[in-house]
Amino acid sequence: MINPRDLTIKKIQDGLLSKKFSAFELAKEFFSVAEEKNKDINAYLSLDKDQALEAASKIDVKLASGENIGELAGVPLAVKDNILIKGLQATSASKILKGYKSPYDAEVITKLKSSGAVFVGKTNLDEFAMGSSTENSAYGVTRNPHDLERVPGGSSGGSAAAVAGHMAAGALGSDTGGSIREPASFSGVVGLKPTYGAVSRFGVAAMASSLDQIGPLSKTVEDAAILFKAIAGKDEKDSTTVDADYSGITDDPSLERVRGLTIGIPEEYFGEGLDGEVADEIEKAIDDLKSLKINFKKISLPHTKYALAVYYIIMPAEASTNLARYDGLRFSPPEEKNREGLLDLYIKNRSSGFGTEVKRRILLGTFVLSAGYYDAYYLKAQKVRSLIKEDFTEAFKEVDVILTPVAPTPAFKIGEKTKDPLKMYLSDIFTIPANLSGVPAISIPVRGRDGKLPVGFQLMGKHWREKDLLDIGRLYEKI
Ligand code: GLN
Repeated sequence: MINPRDLTIKKIQDGLLSKKFSAFELAKEFFSVAEEKNKDINAYLSLDKDQALEAASKIDVKLASGENIGELAGVPLAVKDNILIKGLQATSASKILKGYKSPYDAEVITKLKSSGAVFVGKTNLDEFAMGSSTENSAYGVTRNPHDLERVPGGSSGGSAAAVAGHMAAGALGSDTGGSIREPASFSGVVGLKPTYGAVSRFGVAAMASSLDQIGPLSKTVEDAAILFKAIAGKDEKDSTTVDADYSGITDDPSLERVRGLTIGIPEEYFGEGLDGEVADEIEKAIDDLKSLKINFKKISLPHTKYALAVYYIIMPAEASTNLARYDGLRFSPPEEKNREGLLDLYIKNRSSGFGTEVKRRILLGTFVLSAGYYDAYYLKAQKVRSLIKEDFTEAFKEVDVILTPVAPTPAFKIGEKTKDPLKMYLSDIFTIPANLSGVPAISIPVRGRDGKLPVGFQLMGKHWREKDLLDIGRLYEKI
């Protein structure tokens, strides 16, 4: 019997090779869980059974003929609906893209397809990845599999819930200010935001181009390493990508090497606003890591207090520019038939096609970029961004990795923060600095929370040093 609940990507690899099950059987099992649970959880906006079963059968043929199957052969994955898969819908959870089908694959999808992955479906998100709870979707809220009254986090809430609910073995999300890590923390899964430039953004609906990264969500840190390896690498179609050496990234972690690392604890992340229960859980994670004889050191990242403000200038500035392409003409047929001229058409389409949060950010973004305010807001924010980056450069002279909370609280109730955007924005206070500075960061569930709401802790590393985060995480999981 195959039970998706017990399966990690690693176990799927082993099970297929040892012929415990076929890729087809595996896909069918995952679909039966996904179809059943999606009624309550709404993790998926679309399920793509036919093409998934066909892809799985092809893997079985290859297996039977002894052909070399890829690293992710037969692994059922969920993909956030702002990432393009050829022929499938890609709405970014927006009304303005209703019915849009992608004519091509995102680079990460091309890579996953060549590794043999099978796609279960496209997952829900906050519209254009703007939000922290998946409540800003035009297609309904996603519920947290650990407590259906609560949000799964966001914006990659559908992907996190799909993995947490055993409706996929792993998933892709995107992270501009925390959208992989915060839902991972709320939903009790692992979420990795890679170094800026490690993974191609070709084929992801751009939110804020200097901050966006695609990354994996998974049940274990080992699985995150496997998925990350499959999607990382230089891509001609995204000039920010770099050919970093990730060859040993999935190798077994060496305790001896990890003991040589020093983890920094920045005081700025443990002050006001941090929920007491979360603080206690982070302490537990630190104690567990100390039991592995890893060194710890207190550090300071003095400009942390400006990160949220800087983000809410740079992100809307870039997002308002990126979203200018959605005029209702190019990506979907115009909704509004009654119009007087082109401008009127744009206004009507954009007014009815975008939700409130997206409009708020377009307004904010065009304001901070407007002639009279550019210097005062946008330019100033860029300067402070440099200071925040320098904090990390300085800190990484003393330590190798930085440990912090992921979010100030565990998953909150559906509706609890929708009336107050500032409260919602505060959910990302600990995750945003990694995007502003481009460093890799991972959310790992604190152990021993069975029956309680999950809480994640965050590890941030030096640029291109995902291996440090993954190795520490893998050793932590085994304690
Ligand atoms: N929650 C943050 C925001 O709304 C981050 C979003 C993201 O990472 N895509 O901007």
